[in-house]
Amino acid sequence: MSEKISLADRLSKIKPSPTLAVNARAKALRAEGADVLNFSVGEPDFGTPEAACEAGKKAIDDGFTRYTPVPGIPELRERIVELYEKEHGWTYSPEQVQVSCGGKHGLYNMAQAMFNPGDEVLILAPYWVSYPAIVILAGAEPVFAPLSEDRNFDLDPEVLKKHASQKTRGIIVNSPSNPTGAVLSQEALEAVAEMAREHGWVVISDDIYDTICFSGERPPHILDVAPDLKDQVLILNGVSKSYAMTGWRIGYSLGPAHVIAAMNKIQSQSTSNPSSVAQMAALAAIESGRGFADMMTDAFRERLDYLLGEFASMEGVECVRPSGAFYVFPNLSAYYGRKAGDRVIDGSVAMSEYLLEEALLATVPGAAFGSDAYVRFSFATSMDVLREGMARLRKALAALG
Ligand SMILES: *Cc1c(COP(=O)(O)O)cnc(C)c1O
Repeated sequence: MSEKISLADRLSKIKPSPTLAVNARAKALRAEGADVLNFSVGEPDFGTPEAACEAGKKAIDDGFTRYTPVPGIPELRERIVELYEKEHGWTYSPEQVQVSCGGKHGLYNMAQAMFNPGDEVLILAPYWVSYPAIVILAGAEPVFAPLSEDRNFDLDPEVLKKHASQKTRGIIVNSPSNPTGAVLSQEALEAVAEMAREHGWVVISDDIYDTICFSGERPPHILDVAPDLKDQVLILNGVSKSYAMTGWRIGYSLGPAHVIAAMNKIQSQSTSNPSSVAQMAALAAIESGRGFADMMTDAFRERLDYLLGEFASMEGVECVRPSGAFYVFPNLSAYYGRKAGDRVIDGSVAMSEYLLEEALLATVPGAAFGSDAYVRFSFATSMDVLREGMARLRKALAALG
């Protein structure tokens, strides 16, 4: 078939989100009747809190269904400001907050507002799948600084220095991390702060999992270790994970007023504003406090303990204990090179395909996150599914010759 419309060159530089793609494939198989267990999902398995749902319905009934201010409704931005004041003691004004169509879109706005062609942006690998694509779409270049399992996926200051260059404009940190669940240590953040201070970097802190921490304490934050860098830090957060509101598409960013203003300019010419109804729901969610996230965290912790116990008893499976979020990232590379019939498991993509086709387990290959030794399992799923899934995994791995 000849295609009459040619596509923009920048499309050749990015791929569709692999996590959403696996999820779609799992759902398609399931629709065909296959008993697929889905460990690929990147969203809580809990329903949105009642208070948020009610507020969304009320917004519709009240006719709160028109355009809102570009950066989001003032009440929501004020509540976000209060949240940060209360939880962290950091002072922002509502002009320093943008509400966007999901956290992913907030990051997109940031990148469009700050980066130029030729700029390099440091990304710690394994990384969230959208970081490189969003940086590339802004014309800048992602540079990957590897994190090692030996350090529990914490950043080695020497590795950071090695990947910095004259062109480095900034760095994205994500703690707790998707896909590893690791949090960055105080020492690692101090190293980031030192480089940012010295070279004028911007630090984007993706805090989307900050309410899901198994120790019960918040992990160290770049602004805790370096309050003097407030003019160089952009915070990314949202209600998707903390309030199980992925479909409502509400994220938010906090940072220097001129950067937020630039992001608002972009938002005004692209999406105008996030959904009015979803903003009212997000407002109610945030006003409902931390209880919901704490309840989910307790459930996630129990599932995590179960999974780690299972992995520990499977030969050749190494898994660092996550500190937060709802993913485990076991190293399955001991099985690479082995075979199932004619199929050679030559890496994480082949491993994930094997697990999907032979064991009906949907996972995301580590290659999607820039680390081929691993496969990501989400535990945003019930204990029953986890038990059945681990039985299938054990059998599938044992069948590899
Ligand atoms: C889920 C997620 C986000 C934001 O998701 P939205 O649904 O767009 O709010 C941001 N960063 C990471 C690492 C995530 O996993």
